[in-house]
Amino acid sequence: MNLQSQSWSARRQSRVVRSLKPIIFVAVAALLSTAIFLFSTYDTRPLTSQYAIVSSRGLCPQEDVLIPRTNFELWTAIGEEIGTIAFKASAIHWLSGAVQIETETYDDMGPVGEEPRWENRLLFHEYLEKTFPLVHTVLKVEKINKYGLLYTWQGTNVSLKPSLLMAHFDVVPVNPETLSEWAYPPYSGWFDGQLIWGRGSNDDKSGLIGTIGAIEVLLRYGFQPSRTFVAAFGFDEEGGGSRGAKELAATVLHRYGENSFALIIDEGGGFSEKFGTVFATPGIAEKGSVNIDLSIAAPGGHSSIPPEHTSIGILSALLVHLENHPFEVHIERETSSYQMFQCFAEYGATISAALRDAIKQSASSDVALREVEAILFQDQWFKSLVGTTQAVDMIHGGVKSNALPEQAWAVVNHRIATTSSVNATVEHAVDLFLPLAKEFDLKFSTFGKTISTPETEPKGSLKLTTSFGLEPAPISPFRGDKSAPYQLLSGTIKATYNAHRDLSGDNIAVGPGMPTGNTDTKHYWPLSEHIFRYKHHNGGSSNNPLSGAHTVNESFSADSLLETVQFFVTLILNIDESNEL
Ligand SMILES: [Zn+2]
Repeated sequence: MNLQSQSWSARRQSRVVRSLKPIIFVAVAALLSTAIFLFSTYDTRPLTSQYAIVSSRGLCPQEDVLIPRTNFELWTAIGEEIGTIAFKASAIHWLSGAVQIETETYDDMGPVGEEPRWENRLLFHEYLEKTFPLVHTVLKVEKINKYGLLYTWQGTNVSLKPSLLMAHFDVVPVNPETLSEWAYPPYSGWFDGQLIWGRGSNDDKSGLIGTIGAIEVLLRYGFQPSRTFVAAFGFDEEGGGSRGAKELAATVLHRYGENSFALIIDEGGGFSEKFGTVFATPGIAEKGSVNIDLSIAAPGGHSSIPPEHTSIGILSALLVHLENHPFEVHIERETSSYQMFQCFAEYGATISAALRDAIKQSASSDVALREVEAILFQDQWFKSLVGTTQAVDMIHGGVKSNALPEQAWAVVNHRIATTSSVNATVEHAVDLFLPLAKEFDLKFSTFGKTISTPETEPKGSLKLTTSFGLEPAPISPFRGDKSAPYQLLSGTIKATYNAHRDLSGDNIAVGPGMPTGNTDTKHYWPLSEHIFRYKHHNGGSSNNPLSGAHTVNESFSADSLLETVQFFVTLILNIDESNEL
């Protein structure tokens, strides 16, 4: 162990002690006024004024810190244990061992039962059974579609809505050509004194280990929930979740019915510093997506007598036209992104006065709203978050250097703005390509329906098809009557947050956010209106928000892992004693 671990431990313990103060003070003062002097050295300022931004007004209302009350002593004892060096060592061991099992998902994997590359998932099951014995003794464990893991922690009061904790244990493959770029081998699970290295350490084995580790610890302390908790761990999220999450969700839906869960939480971003303030932005929305496949067919022949444009030339012209006409991107006031920007304006310590003023005035001024766009969209991340994006990701054409290409095709991946739809995205493409189809004398069709035919003999054809169409997710309520689950999550984040020396300030603000990608939650929409994508960890700066996820040098800090465990312990206890879910 290094100094880092001791400092985390010290911070954790001092925080728990400080968080105890107001409650101890009140209880003891009431019962034993003569003993008040014992506590006179404690600082009895409310917890909230010291550790979290709290405001019920303004652009970005903040919830109070939410700590368990019925189970306060249990929560405190577990918090203290999580702060020990011994616990840190075992948590590192948990995640390191999980990373060492290669659970890669490839795009071309065959069905479960036939495809041998799924079978390493069984090693992962065995690893969990061995590492978390209490979970596998007390909870009901089911294997869905052979590899999906469904845990049921039955509550004592079946009239209360259950909650669903999600994660996935597959990973994206490591590109063998990048092996030399990894600081440590990608399946080593190496701990360098600060970080646990390897594919999946961040996305999303840390989320899974944080969840199951929290349950294991709670069981060891004898906790029995009154509400039922279900944990569902998918095994092919990186391939879209059609074999894992989809089957898991179908099982859960069949068992519990629509809108049966108080809340669902899955992987997502953590907290990070933006505009000089630490923000946690749990995802309450998710963009849609669709692939548009463009296929050009044209007569073949010897390349010594070429037409003016080959299928490859025409396809290239279409793609250049597409890139020259990206979707117009505008911030709309009812979106979660706009709410997030308001939180930045309200709490961002170093946000420029021009941006802050523009955001504040934009609530009623369209001119100010355009000004906000002009400033924020200088950062491509913000622009991508708000608008529908397009990326030409695949292209193919031709088979021989002296033969005219009869076919050429490309795939354009779109991530659809929450205010748009799959249909609107496809229509945009059709409108864009129609003039070019005419210019190149192509027969143009989409989904078997002819859009346009040249008056003379066509020189070729253009077909548009789509795949992986997914509408933007329903937005989870974060204000108003239905926002109790969001408020509970928000208060839990504040109760868990530790001041980070590598981030500025002790305070954390929480506002609604949205991941740029999709998660397995897309299969779970019917189960709850309250779906959140959030993993409580230090997500670093906005320049490197993914910590190596999906690329080289993926890693996850041991301190973040401890906070993830602490977060799930706090979340489970808070959910369990809530009267409002
Ligand atoms: Zn993931």
